[in-house]
Amino acid sequence: MVKVTGVMMEYYFVCKKKLWYFANQIQMENENENVLIGRMIDENSYIQEKRNILIDGTINIDFIKKYKQIHEVKKSKSIEEAAIWQVKYYLYYLKRLGIEEVTGIIDYPLLRKNLVVKLEENDEEKIEKIIRDIVEIVTNPSPPSVNRMKICKNCAYYELCFV
Ligand code: SF4
Repeated sequence: MVKVTGVMMEYYFVCKKKLWYFANQIQMENENENVLIGRMIDENSYIQEKRNILIDGTINIDFIKKYKQIHEVKKSKSIEEAAIWQVKYYLYYLKRLGIEEVTGIIDYPLLRKNLVVKLEENDEEKIEKIIRDIVEIVTNPSPPSVNRMKICKNCAYYELCFV
């Protein structure tokens, strides 16, 4: 059974090919400078909080603050829609576990901004459809073909896709 993680939900919105690579254990993230910068920001922000909370072996929440406030740390707003759906998925997942009335926050420490994320009407149906799509994509024996995008030049998989 495919465990749909928060990163997979994020990659679904960023690039379906990236989602396939990641889910099929093709990892190039360690070598990519942008990924390293993101990890540095992540590791050096909010260090007073309890970090990286793995729930149910599936979703990994950056940190939890106060009562029922979950936080996801991002370095920029360039893929904000993906980040929003990642956090909505966490809220959905927690609700399925019986944990309701949770607030989701995306933190941008470099921009000194944050964004509150909530589950809106119809979001749960949309998430369930996305989960089905993700399972279909990642269990396919080969990656989907996609067009080159603006984000490709900063992607860890660039060489694999285009060189
Ligand atoms: S280089 Fe572009 S097409 Fe290839 S995985 Fe990355 S974002 Fe997707």
